[in-house]
Order: sequence, then C-alpha cells, then structure tokens
Amino acid sequence: MQGAFAEHVRALESAGARTRLVRSAADLDGLDGIVLPGGESTTMTMLMERMGLLEPLRGAIQQGMATLATCAGMIVLAREVTDGMADQKGLGLLDVAVRRNGYGRQVDSFEAQLKVEGMNGKTFPGVFIRSPLVESTGAVTVMAEHDGHPVAVRQGRIIALCFHPELTNDLRLHREFVRLAMAQR
Ligand code: GLN
Repeated sequence: MQGAFAEHVRALESAGARTRLVRSAADLDGLDGIVLPGGESTTMTMLMERMGLLEPLRGAIQQGMATLATCAGMIVLAREVTDGMADQKGLGLLDVAVRRNGYGRQVDSFEAQLKVEGMNGKTFPGVFIRSPLVESTGAVTVMAEHDGHPVAVRQGRIIALCFHPELTNDLRLHREFVRLAMAQR
C-alpha cells in the first residue's frame, strides 16, 4: 500500500523468495508469507480499510500466514498503540503495546548494533527511523533488545521489528523469515 516495500522485494528475492505486491484481498491468495513494511502506519491502515484489505489480512495472519512486520508494520499489527491518530485502526494481532514515534522524530533516527536471538552473538545493524517503542509485551518472545526495550519479537509465525533490515545489505532476518514461511504450518 505504502512505504518501503520495494526494498523488501529486493531483500526477499535476494534471499531466494518469489514476491507479489499485495494491494487487494485477492492478492493474498496462495501466499506463504507477507511483509508489512515500514512507512506511515496511519496511511497504511486507512488505505487498507478503503481497499477492503484490513479484515482479509487479519484473517490470513490469524490462520497462520507467516508475517514479517517492520517499524510501521509492527504498529499495524500491535494490540495497543499510543500516540497514534485518534481513529487509528490496526490488526491487533501482536501482543505488544507500542508508542508511535517513541524514539523521537526523524532527526532522532539512529543505527545500533543489536544482539539478535539465533545469530551466535554476532550483531545485526539496526536502522531505526521514527520507530515505535515497545512499552510492554505479552505472549511474545523477545529476539533482541536495545536500551532495555524489545526491538525484535516473535509470536507464532509473526516476526516484528522496530528497525529496518531492508535498508541494509544484511539478509539474515529476511532469510529467517523465508525459512519460517516455508516451514509447515
Ligand atoms: N512513525 C511511523 C508510523 O507511525 C513509522 C516509521 C517507519 O516505519 N519508519 O507509522
């Protein structure tokens, strides 16, 4: 709908996946996984609602479609959003409470080396751009933290990141997502 989807397409194809842009409910048919990219969560949910995509997408993820959500995508998935627009809708499927722009405005964007679960102690370059701040979590597993806050979580077949792996040349998290999407439901 909006945001950094082209960068995800490049990363996913480099990781060996075939991709399709999803703009309507019919585009969901037969997918193994979906990426909810970074961008502007309020615009995304408004467009998804207008296109009749919000409910079918919620259904598909509930039924186990593998999901990689980055930044705004995490906000779209979250159970609870503070500092959103008054009427900001979302999918409410990921058991986290996030504060929109919780790390500050565009000028406060930063990069941090993150220790991510399953990466054998090697760090991952985390690019944060007006990222959501995870203020509390429920039934998720934390994959990485920064300054005492979760910045990567997983819940079932969902991986959600506050940062932007698609803006780096590091494919490890996209490969992990492709593996998850190809694993039996
Ligand atoms: N601040 C944006 C939002 O509220 C997210 C920023 C991003 O995805 N880089 O949707």
